[in-house]
Parts: sequence; C-alpha cells; structure tokens
Amino acid sequence: MILFKKNEDLKSWIQEQNRCEVTIGFVPTMGALHQGHLSLIDASRQNNGKTICSIFVNPTQFNDPKDFEKYPVTFEKDIELLINTGCDVLFLPTVSEIYPNGDFEDKNFDLGFLETILDGKYRPGHFQGVCKVVSRLLEIVQPDNLYLGQKDYQQCMVINRLVVLLGLNKKIKINICPTLRELDGLAMSSRNMRLNIAERKTAITIYQTLEFIKSHIEKGNLEKLQQDATKILERIGFKVDYVAIANATTLSPILNWDGEEKLVALIAAFLNEIRLIDNMVLN
Ligand code: AMP
Repeated sequence: MILFKKNEDLKSWIQEQNRCEVTIGFVPTMGALHQGHLSLIDASRQNNGKTICSIFVNPTQFNDPKDFEKYPVTFEKDIELLINTGCDVLFLPTVSEIYPNGDFEDKNFDLGFLETILDGKYRPGHFQGVCKVVSRLLEIVQPDNLYLGQKDYQQCMVINRLVVLLGLNKKIKINICPTLRELDGLAMSSRNMRLNIAERKTAITIYQTLEFIKSHIEKGNLEKLQQDATKILERIGFKVDYVAIANATTLSPILNWDGEEKLVALIAAFLNEIRLIDNMVLN
C-alpha cells in the first residue's frame, strides 16, 4: 500500500492511473477503522482497478468541540488493517492540505430541506462541514466510484446532492453499502470504542428499538409508535435526539402511512457523552 500525505503527490499518482485507464474507487473515512469501513474497501476492490482510502478527522464537521477532541485515533492499527484488506493507497492529509487557506473555505452548499431535519437540525453546521471536506477530497481524488455506508443514511443523501451541486453526477457513481453490525446487532462505529462495558451493553437497545419499530409498524398514524420507541430508549438511559420514521427516498417525515410508501426509521441518541446513530429500512 502506498501512503500519501500531500495532495500533489497523490494527484500525480492518480494522473498516472488515468493515463493507463485504471478505474479508481474511493472510500473516505475518519479512521479508527472497523469491519464496516473495510467492507467498503472490499466493495471498491471488486469493481475498480485501484482503491484509495482517506483518513482525515475533519474539524469542520464537528459541531461539538469535545466530540472532535475525543474522536478515536488509531493510525497504526488502521494502516495494518488497510494493508491486510488489500487497499492500494492511503491518503492521510494534514488539515492544511485539505484547507490550505486556513479559513476552512467559507462556502455554503445549498442542501435545502436535508439540512433542516434530523442530524441537520440537531448538529448545526455538520453537513456543511461534511460537504466542505468531501468536495475537497473529490477534487483531489476524482474517483470513478465513491463508496459510502448506509449507516450514515442522511449523509449519503447529502453527498448525493453535493455531487449534483458540483456537477460531478455523470462522472462519479455513488455506491451505498449495507451497515455492518456486531453479532448482537449494534451498528459498527468508531465511536463504539468510547463506550464502557455497561454502555456497550445498553447500546444494543438502539438496534432493538429499530427492530421494534419494524415489527410493530402498521398502516395509519405512526406517532404512537415513535413515542413508544422513544420511551424504550429513555427508560434504559439514552438522551434521545430523535426517533423518526421517514420516506426512504426523500427523508420527509411520515406521520400517516399508507402501507405502501417505502420507509426508513432513524435514531440518534446519547449514551452519556457518546452520540450514536443507526437506521433501518422498514419495508
Ligand atoms: P466515518 O469514518 O465514520 O466517517 O465513516 C466512513 C465511511 O464508512 C462512511 O461512508 C460511513 O457511512 C461508513 N461506515 C461507518 N460505519 C459503517 C458500518 N457499520 N457499516 C458500513 N459502513 C460504515
């Protein structure tokens, strides 16, 4: 595996691949890698000549500075995992490589409705930060295929929109990969490393609550189901940001279900200081 820290070095390597018509698959991450991340690398390897993974803990997407400070960093283990998975290139830029002007590129991306709901509402500025870093990474890497995890459902939709806003939708294909889970159902996440033993046990309630929604959903009003789901989480000690049932394509909230529309349930909740998110397509 080749490790690049400088944009220019990575760019010249990519130009060489382009000259040889090698397709590039790209997996952007914030590191502290787990099997979920590696499943994206695998998916990319199956369909591309070369796979590039980036690790960059993007300061502009953390609305809570404490969350940024405590974000796990495990570079050595990450490098070992990437080598064993057969990743071709790791891009490990510094903040100044990504944001050379130091002003974090004061751009605004028109995300419309997506920015006003769910994580857009509860994490102000978060998706603008995601767009800043992803637009910069796409400019550097110019991949043919981009691999994202369904675990971050709303983020997938935001990046889909970003790619259209950047006029790159004809060039870059977005591939959304299923959420990898621990044996007990907990969605794999870098933040799980921060859970203590008791919190780790409690954390599976998010998955169980999604299953509860899935097995109890019926045509008609969904408010009671959402309230019951919220209570399950609160009773065990979560501070709930949201339990939402939404149209799986648009993320518009659905309060009355016609029994046909494709739905997704999404949860974001704090276990002490640690914020966990998960989702499940319901039908
Ligand atoms: P992150 O490092 O959290 O920014 O995640 C990098 C990429 O990995 C994103 O596209 C995530 O959606 C994806 N990802 C994170 N957790 C999982 C998981 N459990 N299963 C599949 N993909 C995941």
